[in-house]
Amino acid sequence: MDYGMIGKIEKAKRYAEEERDRIQIESLVVTFEGTNNPHTVKYNDGVWSCDCGFFKSRGRCSHTMALEMVLEGMLPSI
Ligand SMILES: [Zn+2]
Repeated sequence: MDYGMIGKIEKAKRYAEEERDRIQIESLVVTFEGTNNPHTVKYNDGVWSCDCGFFKSRGRCSHTMALEMVLEGMLPSI
């Protein structure tokens, strides 16, 4: 591997492990394998949506909350 790429990999590791706040997610579409069937979870301009029944009644669900945890530091703080 060339020297330039090695430097970029080091930089990528630093971003991923220590400087996640440099990454801001604007929009996202995720297929979430639920316990019973897959769900489509979307994030757009700070707004979550999910096609599961719980989300429809409560506006938040295990799928959106799991993604908030996974993406911690990369979502705009509200
Ligand atoms: Zn859901």
